[in-house]
Amino acid sequence: MPTPRLSFINKLSASNKIPRQINRNLIFNQIRTRQPVSRADLARVSGLQRSTVSLIVEELLAEKWIIEGSLGRLPRGRRPTFLNLNSQRGVLALDIHPAQTTLAVTDLGGYILAQSQIALPANPRQVIGAIVKAIEKMIADHSDRSFDGIGISLPGRLDLQLNKSNLNHSKPDKPIFAPNINWPIGRIKSRVEEATGLPVVADNVANACALSEIWFGDSDGMHDLVVVSVSEGLGTGIFANGRILRGEGGFAGEFGHVQVDPDGLPCACGSRGCWETVASNRAGMRYYTEIASKPSPPFESLLKLAEAEDTAAKQSIDKMCAALGRGMQMIASALAPSEIVVVGDITTLWQYAGPRIEAEMRRNPSIRVPSLRPAQEGNKARLRSAVALVMNENLL
Ligand SMILES: [Zn+2]
Repeated sequence: MPTPRLSFINKLSASNKIPRQINRNLIFNQIRTRQPVSRADLARVSGLQRSTVSLIVEELLAEKWIIEGSLGRLPRGRRPTFLNLNSQRGVLALDIHPAQTTLAVTDLGGYILAQSQIALPANPRQVIGAIVKAIEKMIADHSDRSFDGIGISLPGRLDLQLNKSNLNHSKPDKPIFAPNINWPIGRIKSRVEEATGLPVVADNVANACALSEIWFGDSDGMHDLVVVSVSEGLGTGIFANGRILRGEGGFAGEFGHVQVDPDGLPCACGSRGCWETVASNRAGMRYYTEIASKPSPPFESLLKLAEAEDTAAKQSIDKMCAALGRGMQMIASALAPSEIVVVGDITTLWQYAGPRIEAEMRRNPSIRVPSLRPAQEGNKARLRSAVALVMNENLL
């Protein structure tokens, strides 16, 4: 559980958020992690004035984000009324991943109540229809709940440059840069909005995960951080100076497509030898095929083999970790973040992989090595990031 963080307020005050939003975020998060909780305890743990806490609590109650629940028990004096998140409301989280697409229903705090994989048809033209159908079924199965919106984390980047009429990042219609997806993913937002009537917020998975680290309070919000999402491809999301750094055209953070080997393998982006061709899950599986001279199992199974001390599996993960560490030297040099947070299956073997990645970063004496850690919630990080997209947009 995060401790009270006054500096969180100071840091974000200097950002694009106004103090009222920061305090709402802080109080909501304290209720989320401590519920049931009294107003007096909120004032104590947040460090805010009791009058400020009361004002925000009244707002959150009026907007039905939270509800007043049972009376607390104290040895003497007036019994405080406890506050809880409104359990009648929820968020739909859609995680689109080149290997699998997952849909979940969560409460307002990002707690996953139901989750299912969506089987995507082979025909690219039928994919969006299948996703919409799964969402409609999920909504029908949870008709006792009202939904605040649908968050979508995407394995690609919105090309805001080519989309100048639509600069609001929350409205990413096409075009989109998603080299590992073969169906018209740029249309997903408008199609889901049309079908459900619910607001949809979509963003690149690494950006969403960076926002989630701040929103759910896993990071202290004081320092710059970079999320590296390791899956079929490699994505990075940059949180700097209190905001997601998007850059000209929304393309900041495409470290995965920096060429690290001019003679390397062709990349889905059209170039060759990109960082993701040597450090992604696919690279790990390719290393296994080369080392063991037999086809690699799926990446999750490869991790299990390495855990079971299989030599070829360990060597292939070593190679992948070294490539990850070398690429992170580039991130550390360019941005000097205080932490790099890794999202993806590799985090399930973190005790093995983490030190290897870090050791490779340390081989470069000229950089200041940031602290390196896996995302909280491990493999649920991507789904939770989709919830953060909706809550950040709606609550603030
Ligand atoms: Zn590439």
